Amino acid sequence: MIVVIKAGASPQQAQEVIDKIVAMGYSVNVSQGAERLIIGVLGVRDNKDVLAAQLGGFAGVERVMPISKSYKLVSREGAPTDTIVRINDKVEIGAGLVHVIAGPCTVEGSEMLIETAHWVKRCGATLLRGGAYKPSTSPYSFQGMGKEGLEILAEARAQTGLPIVTEVLDPRDVPLVERFADILQIGARNMQNFNLLKELAKTRKPVMLKRGLSATIEEWLLAAEYLYAGGNHDVILCERGIRTFETATRNTLDLNAVPLVKSLTHLPIVVDPSHGTGKWDLVTPMARAGVAAGADAIMIEVHPRPSDALKDGFESLTFDNFATLMDQVRPIARAVGRPVASDATLVIEA
Ligand code: PEP
Ligand code: MN
Repeated sequence: MIVVIKAGASPQQAQEVIDKIVAMGYSVNVSQGAERLIIGVLGVRDNKDVLAAQLGGFAGVERVMPISKSYKLVSREGAPTDTIVRINDKVEIGAGLVHVIAGPCTVEGSEMLIETAHWVKRCGATLLRGGAYKPSTSPYSFQGMGKEGLEILAEARAQTGLPIVTEVLDPRDVPLVERFADILQIGARNMQNFNLLKELAKTRKPVMLKRGLSATIEEWLLAAEYLYAGGNHDVILCERGIRTFETATRNTLDLNAVPLVKSLTHLPIVVDPSHGTGKWDLVTPMARAGVAAGADAIMIEVHPRPSDALKDGFESLTFDNFATLMDQVRPIARAVGRPVASDATLVIEA
């Protein structure tokens, strides 16, 4: 059961509700987000209606909802409206426009990143991606530029006005990465790194949680619940392909997840067809499909010279191919009633 406290309620009014729940023998999870306080009531089995009516009578309570799912706060049952993640006054993910997040897999240097940032912005991207801390399957492959990479991302943001999405791999790096990032990415390999989730729950920056390589939808939403329950209500999901028996593509992009997740949770969802396919020539068709399926954003790897890329060149689009992707995605986004954000009134200024 979850209890949503009124926006204007005093701390004492919230405390009275908590005291009542505890006095009745239940435990509570208090999730204080940037905008609202939500109390999870744990262990309620019997007399749910009676308890809901009693708690609903408190002055500070906005509403009480019994939740049948294992994930509570992120469940669709828990919130009547979709979550909109606001990055700044121009970029809102989940508000009905399709955002395009684009950039290289990895920040490899200043020139390539700045060049890419200007190009993707010109084509209509509204956020810039790039990894400074990279999860690498092999210990011998490039691990990212670290802090220097973050500084380059910040310079690209200063020049283009594009907010930055970048991954944080290690709980110890959170204080540094959150200083630079506008959205903190949790990579697929870390979806169930519970210590990292708990650490990121404490930040006030939005978090984009990629689906684990073999994670079920329920496991993914429970990972999102860690963030939400810990106090971060700005959670964005990202479908990036799952591992199946199929080896012809790097992963199998699970587009079922898009409408399914929308029915199960109020959180926005991003589709990443770059990692979802692992093949540059499949990226544009699957980006089109992701938007048609209802994604709130797509995330695309773009590199000035994919054949020279230090990472994921095989799935990265050239500048020309990215321009083509944008041309093809725009009419589909309009057709499903969710135009590409840069086509709407929104203009990102440097
Ligand atoms: C990435 O976005 O560059 C990345 C490493 O993705 P994933 O965690 O989905 O493999
Ligand atoms: Mn990559």
